[in-house]
Amino acid sequence: MNLSPIPLAVRSTCPYCGVGCGVTATPLPDGAIAIAGDASHAANRGRLCVKGAALAETLGLEGRLLHPAVREDGALRQASWDEALERVAGGLRAIIDEHGPDAVALYVSGQLLTEDYYVANKLMKGYIGSANIDTNSRLCMSSAVAGHKRAFGADLVPGCYEDFDLADMVVLVGSNTAWCHPILFQRIARLKDARPEVRIVVIDPRRTATCELADLHLPVKPGTDVWLFNGLLSYLAKSGVQDTAFIEAHTNGLEQALDAAQVDCADPLAVARHCRIDPDDLMAFYGGFAATTKVITAFSQGVNQSSAGTDKVNSIINCHLLTGRIGQPGMGPFSITGQPNAMGGREVGGLANMLAAHMELDNPEHRDTVQTFWSSPRIAEKGGLKAVDLFKAIEAGAVKAVWVIATNPMVSMPDANQVQRALEKCELVVVSDIIANTDTNAFADVLLPALGWGEKDGTVTNSERLISRQRAFLPAPGEARADWRMLADVARRMGFDGFDFDSSHAVFDEHARLSDFRNDGARMFNLAGLCGLPAPDYDKLEPVQWPVRRGADGALEGSARLFADRRFAHADGKARFIATAPRAPVNAVDPEYPLVLNTGRVRDQWHTMSRTGRAPRLADHTAEAFIDMHPQDALLYGVREGELARVSSQWGAMVARVQHGGGIARGSVFVPIHWNGQTASDARVGTVVNPAVDPVSGEPEFKHTPVQVERFGVA
Ligand code: SF4
Repeated sequence: MNLSPIPLAVRSTCPYCGVGCGVTATPLPDGAIAIAGDASHAANRGRLCVKGAALAETLGLEGRLLHPAVREDGALRQASWDEALERVAGGLRAIIDEHGPDAVALYVSGQLLTEDYYVANKLMKGYIGSANIDTNSRLCMSSAVAGHKRAFGADLVPGCYEDFDLADMVVLVGSNTAWCHPILFQRIARLKDARPEVRIVVIDPRRTATCELADLHLPVKPGTDVWLFNGLLSYLAKSGVQDTAFIEAHTNGLEQALDAAQVDCADPLAVARHCRIDPDDLMAFYGGFAATTKVITAFSQGVNQSSAGTDKVNSIINCHLLTGRIGQPGMGPFSITGQPNAMGGREVGGLANMLAAHMELDNPEHRDTVQTFWSSPRIAEKGGLKAVDLFKAIEAGAVKAVWVIATNPMVSMPDANQVQRALEKCELVVVSDIIANTDTNAFADVLLPALGWGEKDGTVTNSERLISRQRAFLPAPGEARADWRMLADVARRMGFDGFDFDSSHAVFDEHARLSDFRNDGARMFNLAGLCGLPAPDYDKLEPVQWPVRRGADGALEGSARLFADRRFAHADGKARFIATAPRAPVNAVDPEYPLVLNTGRVRDQWHTMSRTGRAPRLADHTAEAFIDMHPQDALLYGVREGELARVSSQWGAMVARVQHGGGIARGSVFVPIHWNGQTASDARVGTVVNPAVDPVSGEPEFKHTPVQVERFGVA
């Protein structure tokens, strides 16, 4: 009889997409870890997609960065933590003393835990005194943030996943949900199974796997979403389905928004022509939306990653405001976030234009509130550099030190060759990572080993505002440390008080208390119920949606939806319609670059593959980078399926094999974002992507770069 104790499962949260699935990690007698879905977690009820299910295969120590290193005579050598931290703190201090606080920057990541993000933001904005802290979340959801702020007065996501179960119509815009957010997609599939009458509409230039569920697919011409939704706004107003009482009592700006919409989009036939979609299909969408009260419009990178991303978001929200379909079960606009903690980073102000606890950098009272709470010597007074501008400023010499944390901008940024020039020129490049060799690490002057998933401890927040614990179930490898601890270590070495955190719990408690410190009546982001949470309760914290309060019985009470009371976060309590004049992408195709490059994810890889690339079975689905194009375009440009081709723009070029996936329209090509320069051929599509950004959000236009495709290796 085997009397050895049954190992305890540790409950944690998947580190990949913004669905935020709960997982259990169970140590096995042979030292391996068994990963399963957490049946008690509201986001997934025990289900995992293939990436989540393969998490155990990504946990080994092979390739891990285990010790600090510093560059000496051009080469990196192992160093003690003392030496490495001193090099960081001393280097930052010297540059700040000579050139001022805006000469240094942090570039962080939606992979960070909220606690890491909080300390990074506090160091930069409250102590160094610059807002030059931006994040790779800028690249995936900052247009949604900007759209929420314009419409609602703060970055507030109205609904929750349960709304997908309750809707009678689900509109998925710019989202290959089937591959990028699989567990949410499965939820929609179950809805369709249970209630076949529910209408699913997919709006996407490509015919993706998500279309398998669709009753209607609108293959919209890239970049024309504002035309489509302005046309819908105009149609809804004429159809008499506006909620007049809601509009009059709770909104402003409808007249201007309708005026703007009707300039180009009053005639559905003209909209259909411009968006290159079948007029009957367009009318089926418009008519269905008008006739369905419980409609949810979920959007993701296809909307956000655009030079008109913020207007696209607001053109969607306008339609929900016009019909009053917001803040009630089964309806509303819904931003699906890409990363596991894109939302948590926003809660603590981890973007160059935000303060902690959803306060605003350009609001003097908010700056005063945060500085008072921190008792900090200063507070940043103006917005910092957003991601694309940050790397331009580094190349221009205005920013002389950058600390890159948990991200790989040499692969993930647009115009990646420019990022390389910037890192080559930068006086001090610090990189914290879990992997020893990434494309970005090659430029580091100081390398700091970080804890990875399964080793670190803290919280993340998913797309529906659900705060969920990531818990450690593995020992720290080598000398790796938590990111919040490294940041606090450097802060103390720079002579700053306020960083005496001894645990992630201590950081979380300060973050929760700051959310409750604000006292101006407009605080819809609030964690009052989590203030003063004892460490054992933090350890046991169950997933809970913010705002969080305590009920009369002392139990935590989260909030499934916002705006149920029809109050928004603008000072007058009203939401805003935003006038959105349609505009074309910044860079148009021309005879030299006649095709539109669209980029995105494949089903089984995550970001720059530094983790998913370690699990062999995840390569079974898609083994290498590819250029997906229409067979007739391939014929026209002299390339053949299965052969290598070169895709190039005025910013750079990469090589991959041509395929005909069957879902792409003529005039476009699709290349995945994941492949990096660590493989045999450098397949970084970031070198090709244009650096145009949305003027409001700063989010890059990853979905629309003019390119040419030609046979590779032919003179
Ligand atoms: Fe992880 Fe997203 Fe898959 Fe859930 S859907 S298991 S969060 S990658």
